[in-house]
Amino acid sequence: MRLIFLGPPGAGKGTQASILADIAQVPHISTGDILRQAIADATPLGQKAKDYMDRGDLVPDPLILDLIRDRLSQSDTQKGWILDGFPRNVKQAEFLDQLLAEIHQSANYVVNLEVSDEILVVRLLGRGRTDDNEETIRRRLEVYHGQTAPVITYYQNKGTLHNIPGEDEMAEVTQRLKTLIQG
Ligand code: AMP
Repeated sequence: MRLIFLGPPGAGKGTQASILADIAQVPHISTGDILRQAIADATPLGQKAKDYMDRGDLVPDPLILDLIRDRLSQSDTQKGWILDGFPRNVKQAEFLDQLLAEIHQSANYVVNLEVSDEILVVRLLGRGRTDDNEETIRRRLEVYHGQTAPVITYYQNKGTLHNIPGEDEMAEVTQRLKTLIQG
């Protein structure tokens, strides 16, 4: 299984990606988690990424593209992967296409979890991550609509996109996803 999760911050990508990764026994690759770990470990990547993340801006592409190239070259990804939080703009999506072609892979599913802004704000405010304060949330939604939402159109045009309603209870959304991947 090779699945790309799209959707705004707070849509439930992380939760659903980790459930599906358990079911399919493939690594759950969250660029946000990798960056937060890098900050916790005070690595050069973490030091470079921190201010962008605190503001709710995207971390510059060169850092993210190196990170994803490294991660997808690790042997555990041979059996598949679930990408969560990448690609976040059209340039990253184009890079991913090229990288996957190089390593003779392709995504079987691109899933877009749909949740309205009103519900996202309520969910994000309730989550309590350091970048979940009101100002950063506003900025992350702005960045999402400006830079990340065009990625949906990118995959729509390639004909590989599945829109999944994401406002219902977690278990119901999981069921929809299972129906998609298990046919
Ligand atoms: P997330 O955990 O996916 O909500 O990501 C948290 C933060 O990490 C985002 O607000 C960005 O600052 C950064 N980030 C995560 N993934 C990416 C990416 N693919 N490109 C750029 N920045 C990212």
